[in-house]
Amino acid sequence: MKTVNDFNFKNKKALIRVDFNVPLDEAQKVTDATRIEAAKPTILKVLEDGGSAVLMSHLGRPSGVEEKFSLKHIVDSVSDIIGVQVKFVDNCVGESVEEAVTNLQNGEVLLLENLRFHSEEKAGDKDFAAQLAKNGDIYVNDAFGTAHRAHASTTIIAEFFPEAKCFGLLLAKEIESLEKVLGSSEKPVTAILGGSKVSSKITIIENILDKIDHLIIGGGMSFTFIKAMGGSVGNSICENDKLDLALSILKQAEEKGVKVHLPVDVIAADDFSNDAKTQIVDIKNIPDGWEGLDAGPKTNVGFSYVIAQSKTILWNGPIGVFEMPKFAKGTIELGNAVADATEDGAFSLVGGGDSVAAVKQFGFEKKVSYVSTGGGAMLESLEGKTLPGIAAMLA
Ligand code: AMP
Repeated sequence: MKTVNDFNFKNKKALIRVDFNVPLDEAQKVTDATRIEAAKPTILKVLEDGGSAVLMSHLGRPSGVEEKFSLKHIVDSVSDIIGVQVKFVDNCVGESVEEAVTNLQNGEVLLLENLRFHSEEKAGDKDFAAQLAKNGDIYVNDAFGTAHRAHASTTIIAEFFPEAKCFGLLLAKEIESLEKVLGSSEKPVTAILGGSKVSSKITIIENILDKIDHLIIGGGMSFTFIKAMGGSVGNSICENDKLDLALSILKQAEEKGVKVHLPVDVIAADDFSNDAKTQIVDIKNIPDGWEGLDAGPKTNVGFSYVIAQSKTILWNGPIGVFEMPKFAKGTIELGNAVADATEDGAFSLVGGGDSVAAVKQFGFEKKVSYVSTGGGAMLESLEGKTLPGIAAMLA
């Protein structure tokens, strides 16, 4: 796997696919610059070598050219973060772009307009990729968030740089972190899966069962398992058509020697609301009219104990409705346990949508080993799929 560290960019133009799909407020100001910050080390490596950087990204889901999705809105943020006044060109292919690229000097950074203003980007159009490829000498992919898409700028373009292509530092870190968890991981390996539904995590479970020692199942998806095992889950979220599937997962886990840990108690509420009345109940005996919205105290102790013994930890999905403060305790205690284990030397990877949001919201971001930047790309990797953006770089 080649990264930017294997190249010297002196007098070279690096064409870098970044993921600057950042949230903007109504005044078109960036409200969360995490993704820009994440691309900084790769851009600085190119500049410090004595090269220049041409940045390309998508923003939002425009249909054709839509001013509100123009990347011109983020030029100031990128300039502040990189520490260089970034130049901008109002297209990503064509004459104006060729001219801007030709005029680009070493040490300079040029941001191209939103790739998705051209429908050819998402279509993975080869001619469009060929035009994009004219914008640099070395192609760098640093966009993990779109690595699961075979788009022109993420995948197809790589074939125009048979020798001069490499991963950016962010993408390399994502790949390494996944490898640490699912590849040559130090045992015991624990996967914590939460979130609302078993159905959305089934492929992940099937893919990781061979690689883990402990499986902690929490959150909404645990009720399908509890009901399948004969428990009463009251009004808790439950996929009645997945009961057999839940039993089959438990059987597969047993056959493979994976210890499954389910909640033993829950915070049950009489309404899906932060103002609901609550009581702590045995998870197998949730009264009718009540629904489990967070892990109970015994569960939190049990889960924390398993995590404390672990050397490698993967966490995907919250174990309660953490968006409501009343039901956030389980997810916070779990985060604390993962943070403590990390401090004691375990490797911890947090990935996939809502667990990343929870980790950020409760301040665990710096206390775990790695927080993935790619929701869908992370989930597909955990499902065992080869991401087209990564495969294209290795071809
Ligand atoms: P997912 O997208 O499948 O990872 O699910 C994340 C969502 O699961 C979050 O929005 C949580 O609020 C929700 N969730 C977690 N635990 C529960 C629960 N016990 N009941 C209902 N929803 C839950």
